[in-house]
Amino acid sequence: MNDLSEASREAASRRFECVVMKFGGTSVEDAAAIRRVCQLAARPSPYRPALVVSALSKVTDHLMNAGWAAAEGRLESARASLQLLRQRHETVANELVNGEECGSLVRELAEEFKLLENVLSKIAWEKAFTPQSQDQLLGGGEVLSSKLVHCALRAAGVDAALVDAKQCIVTDAAHTRATPLWVETNERLNAVLVPLLEAGRVPVMGGFVGATRDGIPTTLGRGGSDFSASIVGAGLHANRIEIWTDVDGIMTTDPNLCPDARRVARMSFDEAADLAYFGAKVLHPATLVPAMRSNVPVWVLNSRNPECPGTEIVAHCESSGGVKAITSKRGVAIVDVEPVRWFAPELLREVFDVFERHQHTLDLLSASRGSLALLVSSVTALPAIAEELKGMANVRWENHKALVCLVGEQVRRHPEIAGQAFRAVGDIDVRMICQGASERNISFLVDESRAVEAVQRLHRAFFSTSQPAAEYSPSLAMCQAEGAWQ
Ligand code: ADP
Ligand code: ASP
Ligand code: MG
Repeated sequence: MNDLSEASREAASRRFECVVMKFGGTSVEDAAAIRRVCQLAARPSPYRPALVVSALSKVTDHLMNAGWAAAEGRLESARASLQLLRQRHETVANELVNGEECGSLVRELAEEFKLLENVLSKIAWEKAFTPQSQDQLLGGGEVLSSKLVHCALRAAGVDAALVDAKQCIVTDAAHTRATPLWVETNERLNAVLVPLLEAGRVPVMGGFVGATRDGIPTTLGRGGSDFSASIVGAGLHANRIEIWTDVDGIMTTDPNLCPDARRVARMSFDEAADLAYFGAKVLHPATLVPAMRSNVPVWVLNSRNPECPGTEIVAHCESSGGVKAITSKRGVAIVDVEPVRWFAPELLREVFDVFERHQHTLDLLSASRGSLALLVSSVTALPAIAEELKGMANVRWENHKALVCLVGEQVRRHPEIAGQAFRAVGDIDVRMICQGASERNISFLVDESRAVEAVQRLHRAFFSTSQPAAEYSPSLAMCQAEGAWQ
């Protein structure tokens, strides 16, 4: 029996319908934003909500900076940053709840800050900001925000229950980019959350964080609260997962780069996964994986504009074949691997093995008679990799590249799309053009300094103003949320 039919069976046997609502950093940035979250969670709905929340906006960045300051011997400055964060959280607490409830919330926040201060002292003592310490420190942001949201909901009359994500999301020990251990995680999620939901309570948990089987804190990678929401939604076989953020949905490109970007009404899991993988910050790259597996539809919605219908991401979305969105992934490096003698098949195997041993993922690969070109998102392990391949191949790399990607079901089947795209960027030096590996995307590499311009020109070429600006749905009439994931 496949995952999907099991999911349907379980959902059918359950006594409640449920929605996982994830609120990102800007959606919980201050007391006003958290009040909006409370209103959204308390709205009449056929679904029982479970909430996953990010840290207050920029808190994770500040914690990261404090960690580096402590490691570099500037413990006082690190403590001062933590003190500012404490004041910010206390201010929000005071604006959200009154009286004794506020007193006990502030005491709980103080306890968490004490733990974080101890982590900073440990980092300073070790003179190193290890991946383990990073997870201990950064995860604090979500612990703090979940406490604030929990109390705000209770003050608003919602029977909220605070859930420790470390008790539910069980991961491997790959600190700073951990992967869930699915069976254990699903068991824990069902054991902890289902009784709360059945009792009509609203679970609130921090995103981004998890813990190993031994309870050592881990995190799922920057932006990982989207992934948490999808893990929870899939584990509970929720009816839907809602990603509440600061834009109207998935747009035809990052609205920060093109203010005339339009909302995409509907897209497939695969299209959204490609966009996330190729750099669209609106979703963590792994977000769609659990949702796809359990066939739970995902909605991207704007917490500042909740009446906007957002973007619906479903298993299958028939398409007329147009470009749905354009994205770019910065900070990419191109690695040239040139065999010392000739290009033997063993070289390819060895290259894969070496990259795997160094836990270095490859974004893209292109092979020709004489050499191999690889794209990677980090260069840290490349000197060691080059050393290991010495004698077999010479390895050189160039930094500061960006991968630009056009996404849409079947774009590859429409040769005029590639023609139009390359005409638009005709005078920009492009490399690593990749059109055949997937039906759904066309990608190419440019210098990072030309990435914004390339995206803007492509956006103009494919989404110029001849269409109504409020919404873009090239294939809306043909879209349908079909039951099965293929
Ligand atoms: P959150 O804090 O809610 O997780 P993020 O900042 O991580 O929000 O993601 C939302 C941001 O993603 C938007 O403000 C926007 O600038 C950026 N973004 C990049 N590409 C896209 C896109 N194609 N559609 C919508 N937003 C995008
Ligand atoms: N707070 C974490 C980050 O900023 C996770 C998230 O917001 O999704 O990376
Ligand atoms: Mg995010």
